[in-house]
Amino acid sequence: MTTATATEPTTIQREARSLFPTYDRLKIGVVSHASGMHIHTDQGSYVDMIAGLGVNALGHSHPLIVDAIREQAGKYLHLSNLYYQEPQVRLAEQLQRMSGWERIFFTNSGTEAVEGALKLARKYVSSATKTELVGLPNSFHGRTYGALSVMDKEKYRMGYGPFLEGSSAVGELTEEAIERHLTVNTAAVILEVIQGEGGIVTIPENILSLLTQLREKYGFLIIADEIQSGIGRTGKFLAYEHTSLKPDIVVCAKAIGGGLPLGAILTSEAIAEALRAGVHGTTFGGNALACVAGSVVLDQLEDGLMHEVAAKGEWFKGELEKICYRHPGKIYKILGRGFMLGVSYLNNAKPVHAALLERGYITNVTHETILRLLPPLIADKNELGLFLEALEAVTATLTWE
Ligand code: PLP
Repeated sequence: MTTATATEPTTIQREARSLFPTYDRLKIGVVSHASGMHIHTDQGSYVDMIAGLGVNALGHSHPLIVDAIREQAGKYLHLSNLYYQEPQVRLAEQLQRMSGWERIFFTNSGTEAVEGALKLARKYVSSATKTELVGLPNSFHGRTYGALSVMDKEKYRMGYGPFLEGSSAVGELTEEAIERHLTVNTAAVILEVIQGEGGIVTIPENILSLLTQLREKYGFLIIADEIQSGIGRTGKFLAYEHTSLKPDIVVCAKAIGGGLPLGAILTSEAIAEALRAGVHGTTFGGNALACVAGSVVLDQLEDGLMHEVAAKGEWFKGELEKICYRHPGKIYKILGRGFMLGVSYLNNAKPVHAALLERGYITNVTHETILRLLPPLIADKNELGLFLEALEAVTATLTWE
C-alpha cells in the first residue's frame, strides 16, 4: 500500500500533500485493518494499549458492534433530530439505568458535549451576573472556545485568545485558590475527577468536598467531564462514583459510541428543562449507527464487563506497582484506577513509548513523564501480562542522557 513507484506516491506522501499538518502520526506504516487489541499495518502488527484514545472499549471492530451497525445501516443511517428514533431512545434508557441520570442529550463529540453542558448551565442558572464558567488547573475539556475558556494549559490556548468573557481556570489545585476563585458570580465549575490528558491526576477528596460546600454557598452547578474516565473505564460506570462528588451535569463521549462519533450530556429532569425546543441542537448528534454501536458497549458492561474491569484493573495496577518497586530510580508512581492508568517516570517517558513501539506496543505519553495506558476493556490477563513483561524489560534498560 505504501510502496512508491515513479507514478504512484504512497499513502503517507499523499497525506502530507492533502491533509492539515495537525497530527503527528505514529511511524508504523499505514493501517490495513484492526481487530480486538490488534492493529495491523503494512509494517507489522501492534497491540493497542490506548484503545483509540479511550474509544474502543470492546477493542477494534468487535463482531457484535459490526453486526449492529450492519443491521441498522439496512434500515437507515442518518435522519436528523426531526424524527423519533428507537436507537436513540434505547441508548438513552440504558444510560438512565446505568448512571441514574434522568435525561440525556446526544452530541457528536466530547467537546460538543462540553459546549452543550456549559451552555446548559448558563441557561439553567439564567442570570445576568452569575455567568462565570470555571475549570480546574491542568484540565482538558476539548478544543472549542467554551472548553478552551475554562482550561489553563498554554499549549492548547496559545494564539487563540481572547476567550469567553468571565471564564477561567483556577490558578492551582489548592483549597485556598479555589476559595479565592469561586464567587456568587460562578455559574458552573467543570472538572475531570481523574484528569486524562493532564497525566492521570486524581482530584483529591478535600477538593471535591470543598466544591460541594461552595456549591451550597454560591448556587453554581458542577459539571463532571467523564469523556475519558466514564463508561466503565475505571471499573464503575462513571468515575465520580468512586468519590463523594454528586455533580449536576455529566458529559460523556469516546467509548459511548462503540467506535463511532457520539457524546452525551446527562442531567436531571429539572436542569434538562432549560434546553427546550429551539434553544440548542445538533444535526448529527444521536446518529443511529453510533447509538446502536453504543448500545452494544453498554449491554456488555451491564452483562459483567464493568465488574471484570474493576477486578482486572486492580490486578494490572498491582503488577505495575511491582515493576515500580523494582525500578525506584526510574518509576516514581502508578497513577489512576481500573483501565485508566499512568506510569509516572522520573524523567521523560518518550523513550519508553518508543521502545515499546519497537516491541509492538502502542502506548501514549502525556504530560512529558507519564506513560498513559487505556487498554480496551476486553483486554485479558494474558495479553496484559505480555505487556507487563515488555514494560519491565524496556524500563530495565532505560537510560536518560
Ligand atoms: N474532555 C476530556 C476529559 C477528554 O479526554 C477529551 C478528549 O480527549 C475531550 C473532553 C474532548 O473530546 P473530543 O476529542 O471528542 O472533542
